[in-house]
Amino acid sequence: MPGFELFGEKERAQVNDVLESGVLMRYGFDGMRNGHWKTVELEKAISGRMKVKHTQLVSSGTSALTIALASAGIGAGDEVIMPTFTFVASFESIIALGAVPVLVNIDDTLTLDPKKVEAAITSKTKVVMPVHMCGSMAQLKELKQICTKHNLLLLEDACQAIGGSYNGKPLGSYGDLGCFSFDYVKTITCGEGGAIITNNDKYAVHADHYSDHGHDHTGKDRGAEAHPFLGYNYRISELNAAVGLAQIQRLDEFLLIQKKNYTVLRKAIENIPGVSMRRVPDGGEENYSFLSFFMPDEATTREVHKALSENGVDGCFYWFDNNWHYIKKWDHLKDLKSLGKLPEEVINGLPDYHSQDFGQSDHWLGRTISVLIKLSWTEEEVKARAQKMKSVLNACCVGA
Ligand SMILES: *Cc1c(COP(=O)(O)O)cnc(C)c1O
Repeated sequence: MPGFELFGEKERAQVNDVLESGVLMRYGFDGMRNGHWKTVELEKAISGRMKVKHTQLVSSGTSALTIALASAGIGAGDEVIMPTFTFVASFESIIALGAVPVLVNIDDTLTLDPKKVEAAITSKTKVVMPVHMCGSMAQLKELKQICTKHNLLLLEDACQAIGGSYNGKPLGSYGDLGCFSFDYVKTITCGEGGAIITNNDKYAVHADHYSDHGHDHTGKDRGAEAHPFLGYNYRISELNAAVGLAQIQRLDEFLLIQKKNYTVLRKAIENIPGVSMRRVPDGGEENYSFLSFFMPDEATTREVHKALSENGVDGCFYWFDNNWHYIKKWDHLKDLKSLGKLPEEVINGLPDYHSQDFGQSDHWLGRTISVLIKLSWTEEEVKARAQKMKSVLNACCVGA
């Protein structure tokens, strides 16, 4: 998945443009900037690639999620449905607004089970937030039907799946709002950065103002601009945007490499008895940043995970034990350990995450292994890797 692997002249040239003018901020300083508007250019490039009306670049994927929610008016006491398997950012971005994260079980797509989503809806539910984990996507058609039926917003966390698509639409553009991350380990990176995409004019204006202290950006002198509502500083810098501009132009090149490498590894293991592949919803095209598969039971999965790393197959993840990605080890979140006191409305509205039944998620994630697909592997390296994975899996499955 990591765009950091392939870095070069194009990124350097873009950054140099910014350094030569010295204007590191996205707004203002028109006379000094030699015509360089890297953030604006990158927003246009993302809108074009994702076929949406609006893109708002911001400082991170986490802030993108918070801003996306805020732009639609989500706040204290509103419930947002999210999956048990994600990155802690999903939870943080909701709680930051005083809204309530409602965690729902995943299925064999490794993200939201639509049936469980529908069962979790209450009178306070406002948003369904699927997370397209590890390069593949949620069952968007089913989730959209549920959202339409219950008048809910569909917000796609596409931070790990940029470049994938569903029924011909780029991931992130299917729902009302979509978010991307360009942090250092994502498919394309700009160091730190994120984006919100939408076709909704009102949300776009809100996201624009909210991410810059509520400035209305009417183009007057910055000091003379009005502030229709409060906001924060979630701005991206021109330096980061410059890197992103070079990287987005390489997105399709990266996706092709990922797909090629993924396909070699997949073919080597998919027919081994006992191994089954993660389900990609019909009409979905992954971005191929990970290859995820299931083993028959938890013990075998642990054994395979250990054996893969002992045999030099690096970049294999057993998310079940991971304390950033799966609810099981999110004690700091489940116990709401914050610095200040959270509002009563938040505390009282939260479910008791400790006593909820996440057995269905355990069932899938306890048996999942994901292999990171790298861009920099040579053909020989991919072949050798495929061979090693095949022999490890064969040996473990025979033993099972
Ligand atoms: C990386 C990531 C985020 C947050 O992005 P940052 O840019 O690191 O803040 C949110 N959701 C998912 C699924 C992610 O993988």
